[in-house]
Amino acid sequence: MSKEPRSPAAIPAAAASTNFIRNIIEADLEAGKHAARRWSGRPGPAAQQLAGPLDPARIRTRFPPEPNGYLHFGHAKSICLNFGLAQDFGGRCHLRFDDTNPEKEEQEYVDSIIDSVRWLGFSWDEAATGEAAGENNLYFASNYFDWMVEFAEYLIASGHAYVESQSAEEMRGSRGTLTEAGIDSPFRERSVEENMELFRRMQKGEFADGAHVLRAKIDMASANINLRDPAIYRIRHASHHNTGDRWCVYPMYTYAHPIEDALENITHSICTLEFADQRPFYDWVLERLAEGGLLQRPLPQQIEFSRLNLTYIVLSKRRLIQLVEEGHVNGWDDPRLPTLVGARRRGYPAAGFRLFAERVGVSRSESLIEYTQLEDTMREVLNESAERRVAVLDPLRLIIDNYPAGESEDCLAPNHPLKPELGKRAIPFGRELWIEREDFMEEPSKGYHRLYPGNLARLRYAYVLRCVGCEHDENGKVIAVHCEYLPDSKSGTPGADNYKVKGNLHWVSVADACPAEVRLYDRLFAVALPGARREGDPEDLERDFRDDLNPNSIRVIQAWLEPALKGARPEESFQFERHGYFVADRVDSREGAPVFNRTVTLRDSWAARPGQRQSGG
Ligand code: ATP
Ligand code: MG
Repeated sequence: MSKEPRSPAAIPAAAASTNFIRNIIEADLEAGKHAARRWSGRPGPAAQQLAGPLDPARIRTRFPPEPNGYLHFGHAKSICLNFGLAQDFGGRCHLRFDDTNPEKEEQEYVDSIIDSVRWLGFSWDEAATGEAAGENNLYFASNYFDWMVEFAEYLIASGHAYVESQSAEEMRGSRGTLTEAGIDSPFRERSVEENMELFRRMQKGEFADGAHVLRAKIDMASANINLRDPAIYRIRHASHHNTGDRWCVYPMYTYAHPIEDALENITHSICTLEFADQRPFYDWVLERLAEGGLLQRPLPQQIEFSRLNLTYIVLSKRRLIQLVEEGHVNGWDDPRLPTLVGARRRGYPAAGFRLFAERVGVSRSESLIEYTQLEDTMREVLNESAERRVAVLDPLRLIIDNYPAGESEDCLAPNHPLKPELGKRAIPFGRELWIEREDFMEEPSKGYHRLYPGNLARLRYAYVLRCVGCEHDENGKVIAVHCEYLPDSKSGTPGADNYKVKGNLHWVSVADACPAEVRLYDRLFAVALPGARREGDPEDLERDFRDDLNPNSIRVIQAWLEPALKGARPEESFQFERHGYFVADRVDSREGAPVFNRTVTLRDSWAARPGQRQSGG
C-alpha cells in the first residue's frame, strides 16, 4: 500500500467513520471467513493457489478498469474506496485491467490508468513502496484466457453450458420479458460431446463471428433475466492488445469477472450498483467451479455501492469520448474535463480526491453530489498546502507621484499566513505599479472602499495611498491612476497603525513584474444536469448534453505576476491573493516562462449568484 502518510490535517474526523462495506469486512474478519484461504497473491487455478502462508487478517480488494478510456472522477471514488479499505484493514488492493474485450482497448489507456492511480497516491507494488518486497499486484484479465476456456469446458462437461447456434436476434426474441418467461433454445439439449466439439472448433477459428455462442445452462424461466442462460463465450476474429491473434473466442464480462476475482483471491469484490442484478450469476459461476474443484472456497463476495454522480459534469466514458473526439475540449487532459488527467492539469490535488471520497462515503442509495462540494474540498486542501503569491489579472497602471522615479524597495510578504515557518519573501515596490482595474472607480458606488479620488487605501505589505486622480484615453477609458503614498505608513512599521483604511489592494511593480499567460477555467457545463430535460431528474436525458456546454468555460488572459512566480515549477500550486488557486500548467509552463491555470476561485461564485452564468472572470 501507499507509503504516503495521510496527513492528519487533511483527514476529517469522519475518516474512520463506518459504512456498510466496512461492516461486512469487519464481520467477515471476526468470523474468520477467509482464514481458510491460502494466500499466494499470484493468480492461478486451484492447484497453483496453494503456495503462501495463511493470513486470516487480510482482505483483498481490486480496482478493475477496462482500458477503453481515461479514468474520471467516478473512478477516483472507486480507487480511493478499494485501495483505502485495503490500507485500513492491512490488506491488499490489486490493479487489474479488465481487458477481455479485444475491441476498443488500447495501450495508451493502460499507461494513463497506471499513471492516474499512482498519482492518486496508491500503489499495488510492495517493492516499489519499500514495504516487504514481494507482491506486485498488477494484473491483466487477458492473461487468464487459458483458465477461462478450461473452466468453460468444465461447465460443458458437467452439463452446465451449451453451444447456441441461433442468431443474436433469435436469442433476443426467445429471452422473454420482465413478466414473461423465456423459451428454451432448440440447441439447449445438445449432448456434452457435441457441445465440446463445437466449442473446440469455435476456438480453432472454424466459424464466423456470431455463428455460435457458448451459453450457461441455468433457467430460461428465471425471474432474473440475467440467469436466462446468459452467453459466456462469443466468437470474435479480432486482435487483442495483449494476446494478439491467439484467440478468436472471448469471454463475456459477466463470466470473466468472477473468475478474475477468484483467481486473484479477492475477498471483497466491490462494484457499482448496476451490477447488483448480475450478482446471482457471479455467484452461480463461482459455485459451479468450486463444486468442480477448480476454485477454492471461500469464494469472493460481490458488494455493490452507488456510483458517484456530480452536478455540472458528465461521468460516462461514452460522453467523455464524444467531448474529446468532437473537439469540445482540447484532449483528454483538458483541465475542464472530469478526467483524472484533466484534474491534475487543472491543479486539483490528489489529496483533495482522497478527502472528497472519505466525505461522500459509500451507500447503496443513488445520490447526486453538488459540484461545489468537490470544489470546497479542493479549496480546503489547497488552503493548507499552497503558498501565497500576488498576481494582477486585469491590470491598470498606478503611478505614485511622490515616489522617486528609478527607486525601489522590498516589501515582505508571508508565504503562508497559517505557516509562519515558511517564511517571507521580498516583493519589489516602486513608483509604477499594476493594480486590478476593479480596484479603482472614478465615481465610486455606495460602499466602495478601494481607490477613488480623495480616498485612502492600503497596498498590501506596503504603504497607504491617497488617490489624487486618473488619466483617460481619447475614449474616456481610465488608463492610469495617480496617488501619493504616506511614507510613514509602511506595513510592519509602527506607523502602519496610524491609518484606518478599509480597502486593501494587491499590486505588482511594473519594473519587476513577470508577464504570463493565465487560463481562467470555469465549469464545462452551464447547468447542473447536462442534457436533462427536467431539473432534478437525472434520468431524463432526451435533450443533448452538448447543448449545455458553458460557452465561457475558458478565458485566456495576459497577467502580471510578482517576480517570485517566474521560477514556478510545472504543477506547483499557489494561491494568488484575492483571486483563487492557480497551478503552473504541467504541459505548457516553463521555469522562467510560466503559464498558469486557475484551479478554483477563492469562494463559490456559482452559489452566490443563483441562476446566473458566471462570466469566468
Ligand atoms: P463508465 O460507466 O463511466 O463508462 P465504467 O464503469 O464502464 O465507466 P470501468 O472501467 O468498467 O468503467 O470501471 C472500473 C471501476 O470503476 C468499476 O468497478 C466501476 O464500478 C467503477 N466506477 C465507474 N464509474 C464510477 C462512478 N461514477 N462511481 C464510482 N465508481 C465507478
Ligand atoms: Mg464498465
